[in-house]
Amino acid sequence: MTIILFGPIKYNWNDYAGLDVKGKVVMVMVNDPGFWVGDTTLFKGKAMTYYGRWTYKFEEAARQGAKGCLIIHNTAAASYPFSVQQNSFNTTRLKLDNRGKDIPNCDVIGWVPEKISHQLFAAAGYDSSLLVKANQPGFKAVPLGLQLSTTMTVKASFNKSSNVIAKITGTKRPEEVIIYTAHWDHLGIGRPDQTGDSIYNGALDNASGTAGLLEMARVFKNMKAKPERTIVFLAVTAEEQGLLGSAYYAENPIYPVNKTVANINMDGLNRFGKTKDMVVVGQGQSELEDYLKEAIEKTGGYLSFDTHTEAGYYYRSDHFNFAKVGIPALFANNGVDVVGKGKEYGETLENEYTSKNYHQPSDNYDATTWTGDGAINDLKLLFTIGRRMGFETSFPKWKEGSEFKLIREKSNK
Ligand SMILES: [Zn+2]
Repeated sequence: MTIILFGPIKYNWNDYAGLDVKGKVVMVMVNDPGFWVGDTTLFKGKAMTYYGRWTYKFEEAARQGAKGCLIIHNTAAASYPFSVQQNSFNTTRLKLDNRGKDIPNCDVIGWVPEKISHQLFAAAGYDSSLLVKANQPGFKAVPLGLQLSTTMTVKASFNKSSNVIAKITGTKRPEEVIIYTAHWDHLGIGRPDQTGDSIYNGALDNASGTAGLLEMARVFKNMKAKPERTIVFLAVTAEEQGLLGSAYYAENPIYPVNKTVANINMDGLNRFGKTKDMVVVGQGQSELEDYLKEAIEKTGGYLSFDTHTEAGYYYRSDHFNFAKVGIPALFANNGVDVVGKGKEYGETLENEYTSKNYHQPSDNYDATTWTGDGAINDLKLLFTIGRRMGFETSFPKWKEGSEFKLIREKSNK
């Protein structure tokens, strides 16, 4: 077993440099050195980069030829307790059907609680200071000399689910497209809550976004002067299973990636009234946030940004799969500064949803508390920027420091 911590090639940091991990099991830490050291000059400081996200750790280990990959869990670094991993891995997992494709995969992936990792280090003659050293530039992974053996019985079945796509063809540059997305799936039937309800309706997450997508299409369709670029409306499946529908689209794009101007993603609309702000997740990623800033300021509002940057929310909904192939992607959620009621009111409602209803059977439509005016206001803003791009000839860019800038530049060549 080899211990390697982190693995990005950007930020002058490559944990795999000079190592051969073929056939080995690698142990990695979740999140980035910037988070662990608290140094703003390392990676993006406290904010998680794509390279800190657990999906990247597994993917990179597989690309390096590792046989297995274990991520060392830490609640602060992962932004959720170990039980979340236990719940989500201790069940059937959906994956894209990769039969016949040459996509590297580890045989075994998993998470170990930090405490257990210390025991593993001890068994190999190391102590937990290894984790501290691993966050220093120039750290070279050490072999632990341990062996992992495991047996798993895997039953696989193959099913189909559909992405649903529609378009309004551009009048002058139809080959250039702007893609609005919303995931139409939720969690289905699952573990009952205290009331015995086992149906996960997902009214907010993401029936609301799907409704927004339909409304967006209707409004674009009703425009007298149609956009010069093509506007695409894509309802993707299996987001809750690991962003699978959007991953499938990104791997099998209908429209050329380098002609895809932007992706605007909707995952959960505003249910509690008009706000002065909208919250951009992934501050500083692309110029799309400037588009939205301009649009919202014209209406007298202002742009806010996601404050839990260490949780890496930018890598946790469908727009991320567009970003991964270089398409500038915007993920903006409802704000909390409710007109006439203030921030505290909005924050309370927001936290209430997260703690009581998020991914619970109780994510239901509530006619007594839900209002549509906030959602309409936010949709208007997302429409405004889509319309603007629909008539523009320029392409919005990734900003300096974005992990996706280079991918876009390469795809344009
Ligand atoms: Zn969602």
